[in-house]
Amino acid sequence: MCIRDRLLPDHVANQIAAGEVVQRPASVVKELLENAIDAGATSIKLLIKDAGKVLIQVIDNGKGMSETDARFCFERHATSKIKSAEDLFNLQTKGFRGEALASIAAIAHVELKTKQENQELGTCLKIEGSKIQSQELVSTPKGTSIAVKNLFYNIPARRNFLKSNTVESRHINDEFQRVALVHPSIDFSMYHNDSEVYRLNVSNLRQRIVAVFGKKTNEKLVPIDETTDVLNLSGFVSKPEFAKKKRGEQFFFVNNRFIKSPYLHHAVANAFDGLLASGYHPSYFLYLTVPTNTIDINIHPTKTEIKFDNEKILYAIIRSTVKHSLGQYNVAPALDFNRDSTLDVPYDFKDKKIDREPNISIDRNFNPFKTEVQKNIQFPYKREKTTDWESLYTDIESPEPQVSLKTDENQLFSDTIPANKTHQIHGKYIISTIKSGLIYINQNLAHQRILYEEYLENITVKEAMSQQLLFPLEINFSKDDINLIREIKPDIESTGFLFDKIDKETLIIKGIPTTINESQVTIILEQLLDDIKNEIPETSFSQLDIMAKSLAKSMAIKTGTQLTLEEQENIVERLFSCKEPNHSPYGKPTFITIDIQEIDKKFGL
Ligand code: ADP
Ligand code: MG
Repeated sequence: MCIRDRLLPDHVANQIAAGEVVQRPASVVKELLENAIDAGATSIKLLIKDAGKVLIQVIDNGKGMSETDARFCFERHATSKIKSAEDLFNLQTKGFRGEALASIAAIAHVELKTKQENQELGTCLKIEGSKIQSQELVSTPKGTSIAVKNLFYNIPARRNFLKSNTVESRHINDEFQRVALVHPSIDFSMYHNDSEVYRLNVSNLRQRIVAVFGKKTNEKLVPIDETTDVLNLSGFVSKPEFAKKKRGEQFFFVNNRFIKSPYLHHAVANAFDGLLASGYHPSYFLYLTVPTNTIDINIHPTKTEIKFDNEKILYAIIRSTVKHSLGQYNVAPALDFNRDSTLDVPYDFKDKKIDREPNISIDRNFNPFKTEVQKNIQFPYKREKTTDWESLYTDIESPEPQVSLKTDENQLFSDTIPANKTHQIHGKYIISTIKSGLIYINQNLAHQRILYEEYLENITVKEAMSQQLLFPLEINFSKDDINLIREIKPDIESTGFLFDKIDKETLIIKGIPTTINESQVTIILEQLLDDIKNEIPETSFSQLDIMAKSLAKSMAIKTGTQLTLEEQENIVERLFSCKEPNHSPYGKPTFITIDIQEIDKKFGL
């Protein structure tokens, strides 16, 4: 659609009006980022020089503009986003006034480069103080780049009014965060004076928050999720013990727009009543979705304030949902298994009533793994993946006894045995010789343990890797299952799944963990729901734990799978890099050993 057809009549195009939209460099950042999102970009880059006073540039890979649109986008009320007043009540886009670019062009030097998919050459347009200086065809990638230079060059009073670079940068940072936090499925990066400030890959919401605010944030987050007729509420609040003296990290987004609402803030603060020392503030990242006809976002030009029709109800829902989630967190501290940043596997034998102790050596001294696990020492190859498995069998006779793992490994894999190969038998067991005799590793159970710990680590400390699907996957579930999926959405997403939409009975998936392939998705999710439904709620096992177990079970190498020598060794190596290599996540032994004495006995020796 051509913008020209939609020009809204306006006679007030001047610098004074520009002042309404553009108060400072951060305002330009906000408008440009929002335009890029409205243009459907999946990757957006922000370049800043000298706190935006010298340069603000946004480069996107969105749909771009035709030559005509490029010329007209700087006209006041040139918007391609609404056609009638009614559209105002059903806005799907960030912008709608058609005044941002016009305002910016009135008070800065602007260079626009843009190209649509089907165009061979793009358009480059230079504007200064609303006047077009030049227009030419350029070769440029699909999408749009808008560079805004020397902001307020023609309004010295405004330019002088700008605060220090530190302050203006902080405002820019705030705007960037507010946009990045609602669009985890868009790849964002930001550079200030050529150095990288943010590099945010496509991820789920939790990971995006962690990517913006740092790794430590992950352990602080309590998920919030509530669906009602008037409001969908999701996101995270910080655990009370992580409250801050300073306010900050407090975000409300309504229908994907950052808003400020002292009233709703009060609802959250109220939910923390009695949990915080006075003077401390919780962090929160709350995403509200409300029917568009129940809000009016048009009451402020910079659109950070909002009027709700049913404020009181929203207040009550927010307050009780946050309270409830905090309560759940308090009664279920097992959820909090990432407390001390080391991976604290919430694996509790007592709770699980495992009556069978793994059938290994009777004499504890013969079981080096056990000591290992209790000492919580990591095997060296966890860090040095290149470590040669074979080296474990050699060079044990260390002159002085070391407390290191190496010693323990060496106790197991004696030097008296030549560099050893593993063997697979019956498509089921990996066998190898060890100092005391033989070791039989069950490939399926061992791999379950490996994946289980990897998932827990992904969920809690690392960012899970996600692969975006070319075509989103639609899977149908019962209403009940869909409700359950909604409940555990943040947790599932932290394993690398990315959900596009959850409808009444359909789940649309746009990204999956890199460790699985598309054909497995349905089975894995069905199994997961089953496992969650069947888990007795009284156990201290968190949902994350159940998920990690379920995924590990579904995705582990099956019995009957032939393994190459390399694959066998890989399993052995990774198993013994685990925190608890002795058991599968469901409590079965992952390996057994047979002492030479036992073998001797069979021979009657
Ligand atoms: P609004 O966003 O309110 O429509 P703007 O002044 O911000 O008004 O932008 C004017 C028009 O220019 C938009 O409606 C859109 O058609 C076009 N436009 C602006 N930025 C971009 C972009 N990054 N990619 C594609 N089109 C854009
Ligand atoms: Mg806009």
